[in-house]
Parts: sequence; structure tokens; C-alpha cells
Amino acid sequence: DLVDASYARIKEVDDEVKAFLTLDEENARAAAKELDEQGGDNPLFGIPIGIKDNIVTKGLRTTCASKFLDNFTDPLYDATVVSKLKDKKTVTIGKLNMDEFAMGSSNENSAYFTTRNPWNTDYVPGGSSGASAAAVAAGEVFFSLGSDTGGSIREPAAFCGVVGLKPTYGLVSRFGLVAFASSLDQIGPMTRTVEDNAHLLQAIVGHDEMDSTSADVEIPNYTEALKQDVKGLRIAVPSEYLGEGVSDEVRESIKAALKVYEDLGATWEEVSLPHSRYAVAAYYLLSSSEASANLARFDGVRYGVRSTQAENMIDVFKYSRRDGFGEEVKRRIMLGTFALSSGYYDAYYKKAQKARTLIKNDFDKVFEDYDVIVGPTTPTPAFKVGEKVEDPLTMYATDILTIPVNLAGVPGISLPCGFSSEGLPIGLQIIGKHFDEATIYRAAHAFE
Ligand code: GLN
Repeated sequence: DLVDASYARIKEVDDEVKAFLTLDEENARAAAKELDEQGGDNPLFGIPIGIKDNIVTKGLRTTCASKFLDNFTDPLYDATVVSKLKDKKTVTIGKLNMDEFAMGSSNENSAYFTTRNPWNTDYVPGGSSGASAAAVAAGEVFFSLGSDTGGSIREPAAFCGVVGLKPTYGLVSRFGLVAFASSLDQIGPMTRTVEDNAHLLQAIVGHDEMDSTSADVEIPNYTEALKQDVKGLRIAVPSEYLGEGVSDEVRESIKAALKVYEDLGATWEEVSLPHSRYAVAAYYLLSSSEASANLARFDGVRYGVRSTQAENMIDVFKYSRRDGFGEEVKRRIMLGTFALSSGYYDAYYKKAQKARTLIKNDFDKVFEDYDVIVGPTTPTPAFKVGEKVEDPLTMYATDILTIPVNLAGVPGISLPCGFSSEGLPIGLQIIGKHFDEATIYRAAHAFE
């Protein structure tokens, strides 16, 4: 019934929301029928789920919203997260739109179409996991998976009024996630409620030999953590997160949220993350450098669409890349290649790495005295489709409050905390210590 309801809802709204790139209706219905016969009682049993299209699904088209992978219809294996979900008997409804290769903050960089914000379709759903957020917000699926390199789970969660968690780097296996910036990428859960989010995270975490950066840590019971209150919880609020560039409406919502925490017995104080102002610059250097290396594999030989105009090998590479990649992806590859080129390495890449360490140290210092860091997820609510598309730098600034978290490798959640005067959701961001997702969930659940 859940799977039927999911497809019925998709038929009703997806012409407008445009969240799905590929649907897997026949297989999903067959799987649901089989599950009905088997029966089962884990919390994820039979739940319809949507998967971001940069997560590889065996036999199900995986494009990363790029023309380059338009013909990648039959991947040979499942990402680790996908096999883990199959073990829990969720049902994959289809693959969700995104910014091409996860580069973007609005979904406007998809090579196919722009997903819309279900609250108001004139507005963007955020990005790059915009459709993962929109599909949950519009009721097309209960759960979805997104990926977050610089904010791509939390920013769309904030814009669409859903709950999205970027786990600690290393907690969730990246095996089968098409790499954008390998030292920053994490897959994470997107849901309507914090409790659902905890269930979905529980299903996808764990050490994986197939990912050399996967951490071998003890996994707590996340839903148990929800039962505790927040009395005595020590909250840090970075002054940089409520300062210039943050809209009045967003600031007011966050202050109201802090008042709720006070009433619940938590305390908060203002702190500083002084190096966070270097985060966006460092991030675009580092992530583009890694992207330029990761995307070298798209050469028209091993993966994806091959140019038919080429008459020699070099032209196969050249024309396939010219025709296969979109503008933003090319911009990143050029920036990254330049930053890594000999003679510039020290001036750019190395300096950005140093800034990254300083940013991480800022977080470590705050976490000596506090349990969580709280602030807005984004400086403003969702913007209109087309509003920032001509100006990459303004677009990049959208992630100013989420990027430091990826650079530090710590976990962060976004959950709804109010609405703007235009009726668009506002997101509250809660950041935790390394591998302390349990405290984030406890704090988020208490507020919800
Ligand atoms: N918007 C950021 C970028 O374009 C973050 C993307 C992401 O987290 N995947 O790189």
C-alpha cells in the first residue's frame, strides 16, 4: 500500500515538482508484493525510498544528472548504503534529480531539468540534493538519501522544510557514491521527522572494507538517544552565524529556537569560529582540486557517452568531455586543475589545506566546552529559480554556514524551525562532535 501510495503521489505532483529522473515502478511493485507475502517488522520494512542519482544502484540507471552518464542504464553493483537498505527491506521508488555531479546549491545545474520547491514552485529546492529534499517534502517518498560535500543535504533540507543529516566523515560508506570531493563527501538521510532520520541513519552506518576512509567505530543506538531530554545541554552559538549576510527573519527564528532550548533547561552562550570566514574560499579550492582528479575518469572510453565525431584517441577525450560535462562542472575542473598545477600548488592547494586545519581547530576548541553548536543552516530561505544562476559567487555563498562543517569533518543536521513571511521554511542547524550524532538527534528531537 505504501508503494502504491508513493507512485500515486508521484503521478499527482511530480509534473510540477520534477524530483525524479528515473522511476523503477515495475520492480518496486514486485518487491512490495513479495514483502507483503513475507511480512516483517523492522522500522524500515516496506518503506518507499528515493535515492540521489549519484549513488549507484544495480540495474537501475544512475546519471549524476549529467549527460555524460545518460546511457549508464545498467550499473553492475549497489552502493554499500543501497545494499544495507535492501537488507532492511526498504523499496527503492526511483532516482532523484540533483545538480550535475553534486556541484551546485539550487538544482539548476542538472543537465535534465530543475526540480522545484514544493512550498512554492517559483523557488529552488536547494542543492545539490534538492530533489531528495523536495520528494520528501512533497510526500512522494517517506525517506531519501542525499549526499553532502559542502551543504548539499542540509541546505535543501532547510529550503524544503525537512530533516537532513550530514554524518561525521567516515561514518557512512562512500562505496558506490560517485566521488565529487572524496575528503568531504558523505551520504546522509533525509526525512520528515528526526525519529525517522535516526532510523534511516542506523540502517546505513558501519565500517566497510570497500571504503578506505570508512571509520571502525562503535555505533550507538540513535533512537534510544531521542528519549533523553536536553536539561543541562551546553549550546554554543557562533557570532559569525548570526552576523552580516544573515537575514533578519532567519536570525529571529534562530533566537526563538534558542528560547525554546532555554525553556527546556539547556543553556547557550555566544562563541567564535574565527576562521570560518575563510571556509568558502578554502572549500572551493579543495573541492574543485579533488573534483578535477575524480572526474578525470570520465574520458569517453571507460564511462558514459562517447563522442562520435572524434577521429583519434585524444579527440575522443576532448569531445566527450566537451559535450558530456555542463558549464559548472567544467568551471570546477578548470579551477581545480589550475590550483593543482605545478608552481601554483603551494600558493593555493597547500594554503587552503592550512586554512582547513585552522577551521577544524576552531571547532575542536568550542567542543571542549560545549555539547553542540547551533545556528542557521542558510543565511536566507530559498531563492527564486533563475535568481542566482548567472552569478556563481553569490551561489557559492549560499553554503557559507554549512561548508565549515564539512571541512572539519563533524556531523550536522538541519531541521525546520519556522517560516519566512513568504511562507518558505527556515532551517535550524545543529552541529556535533565527531561521531556524536546521538547528541545531535537528542537536541533536534527535543526542539521538534
Ligand atoms: N553547493 C556546494 C557546491 O556546489 C556544495 C555541494 C555539495 O555539498 N555537494 O560545491
